[in-house]
Amino acid sequence: MPNTRNRSTSMKKIKRRAPSGESREYYERRKKGAKKAHCAICKAKLLGVKKTGAKSTKKPERKFGGNLCHKCQAKVVVEAARVKEGAKSIEDVDIIYRKHVEGILE
Ligand SMILES: [Zn+2]
Repeated sequence: MPNTRNRSTSMKKIKRRAPSGESREYYERRKKGAKKAHCAICKAKLLGVKKTGAKSTKKPERKFGGNLCHKCQAKVVVEAARVKEGAKSIEDVDIIYRKHVEGILE
């Protein structure tokens, strides 16, 4: 039976292999609060995204601001322009960008 302080659901059980070869259980407090915003495509941390303040100050006001990083956003916009001009078909766009490219075209 774990210690009383470790029986709370806010404690996370971690199994580790000790150098001796036996497995041991440790307890760690779960982290509180929301996680930092990440890019939906490359999972990079998004800069300029805050939790508090006015709506216009909380995230970049460009297209996909607060959702995609600047690199992925630029790539999506370029791919959308190519599809729009007929230089590329939507099937030729990389599948990770396709959903966002379709969002611009509609
Ligand atoms: Zn990205």
